[in-house]
Amino acid sequence: MKGNRSRNTRPELKVRSRLHSLGFRYRVDYRVHLCGLTARPDIAFPRRRLAVYIDGCFWHQCPIHGNMPVLNREYWRHKLELTAARDRRHEAALRADGWSVIRAWEHEDPAEVADLIAWALKEWVPDVHPS
Ligand SMILES: [Zn+2]
Repeated sequence: MKGNRSRNTRPELKVRSRLHSLGFRYRVDYRVHLCGLTARPDIAFPRRRLAVYIDGCFWHQCPIHGNMPVLNREYWRHKLELTAARDRRHEAALRADGWSVIRAWEHEDPAEVADLIAWALKEWVPDVHPS
């Protein structure tokens, strides 16, 4: 999967740093083994079963910055479709396993993304999975 999802991008680091300063602890390289696949959320809260993905604007074709390359267009269209299909599989498998999933775009304000995650952990995601 190398290349399809870049890790430790600037927006991701900013979201993490704000979460940390708000007192939340998370896992960065956590693997969730599900039937037949392994999901690797960008930020994971295993005890709360909350998975966070910060989607890259190119790889995930955000509506604002997701420009399809002109060169080798068919190749890229196919590759990006495979990426999107894999993401849908992973998200569906996580949800089927009782996880909540938050997706944000890398162009979103990291502070707002972190605050949304903080809100979710306080108000929305049940704390029913002791570990
Ligand atoms: Zn974007």
